[in-house]
Amino acid sequence: MGLAGHKLDLYILGALPLQDYCDDLRLVLSDLQAEGALDSTGSPKDASVLIEGGVVRVRLEAPTGPRFYSNTKGGFRAACSVCSYNLTGVFASAVTAWREGGRSEEAARTATVVCRRCGHTCALTDTSCQPEAGFGWGALVLHDAASLRLTTRFHDLLVSHLGSYRVVGTRA
Ligand SMILES: [Zn+2]
Repeated sequence: MGLAGHKLDLYILGALPLQDYCDDLRLVLSDLQAEGALDSTGSPKDASVLIEGGVVRVRLEAPTGPRFYSNTKGGFRAACSVCSYNLTGVFASAVTAWREGGRSEEAARTATVVCRRCGHTCALTDTSCQPEAGFGWGALVLHDAASLRLTTRFHDLLVSHLGSYRVVGTRA
């Protein structure tokens, strides 16, 4: 329980890192409000309806371009998609360069890292990270989640609007 003092926030992202899926997230929110799971401020009426153990507040983050979502406190590992070589350092540097260069969609689409072991060129958006981290065009933000486990009802609702989705957890 070393992280017990840290607040856990979850970011629900669409499957595709560089596609604006915020309209789909809006539909998820309005369905939750229509069925009475959330009130108009985004507070769950029944805390455990979305996340096992509960969540305090839900809001939509709808940026005008891509962002990079990751566990800011605990960090993450990035690996070559071919040989699994640890690319965390070069990957993190590339993300920093992208941020400092203005966070453009074009730069996110074209940025790559080269594996020092096998020479494979990985698109920044395709590099696999553990725990989950990556580019997204907005997120449903679940503040103060008790766990990373989504309820079946919430999972089914996300699938019905997004097809598939990603969950990035961050301790703050
Ligand atoms: Zn490799």
